[in-house]
Amino acid sequence: MDSKIIKLSIIFFLLFFKANAVEFNGKFIQGHFILGKTSPNSLIKIDDKKVKVSKEGFFVFGLDRDRKFDVTISVTNSNSNKKIIKKVLKRKYKIQRIDGLDEKKVTPPEEVYNRIKKENNKIGKARSINSDLDFFKNKFIMPVDGIISGVYGSQRILNGKPKWPHYGIDIAAKQGTEIKASGSGIVTMSEGDLYYTGGTIIMDHGHGISTIYSHLEKLMVKVGDKIEQGEIIGTVGSTGRSTGPHLDFRVNWFQTRLDPMSIMN
Ligand SMILES: [Zn+2]
Repeated sequence: MDSKIIKLSIIFFLLFFKANAVEFNGKFIQGHFILGKTSPNSLIKIDDKKVKVSKEGFFVFGLDRDRKFDVTISVTNSNSNKKIIKKVLKRKYKIQRIDGLDEKKVTPPEEVYNRIKKENNKIGKARSINSDLDFFKNKFIMPVDGIISGVYGSQRILNGKPKWPHYGIDIAAKQGTEIKASGSGIVTMSEGDLYYTGGTIIMDHGHGISTIYSHLEKLMVKVGDKIEQGEIIGTVGSTGRSTGPHLDFRVNWFQTRLDPMSIMN
């Protein structure tokens, strides 16, 4: 073969390969955040869900705490259609059993059921926003300096009843400690007094990635504010159902709750 033809076919192969390449930043482990990059204009599906691809080719998704099956990532562009299958590694979560508790402390009183339902709907709406922002592609930071007193995925079994797993990380810090925005984004909720989470801020970082800051003493932002990473959004408190000053920090990919540690690494 003519060396020119060989060269041309190598170039063609490289171009073709590049057009099909998909890179992942993140580990395929339960609860993890995964950032993907592909060629712009590709269509990406995670399992059966179509996800947004940014102008630069970034997309994002997350794996549920208890996900037991493989993830299928379908990549379609003008010259190909392929499926990537990834195994999801399982994790062991902390389980704590406490028996002999006063029943009133285990279940909320009936008169607050409606309030809780309304508040959960509001939170769910904020988490379902699918904006074009692409701040999710930048590394996130710890919102407060403090001691991690609660980890993602842990679960308490009170009087034999399994409670909701803990989906955030708890960072113990002094009352009034300033809280920084973990990533740049737009404030989608700022509520002073929710039943469980007290003073609560939700931020949208794009493509379904949101962060939640709970039990705040002071809220310093309002819905619609554009916030840069590191900006002060409020202060640590112990509002809502909380036993002492701390920040409960959460990350979601739509309704899937992710381990906040996985977006900071
Ligand atoms: Zn917490």
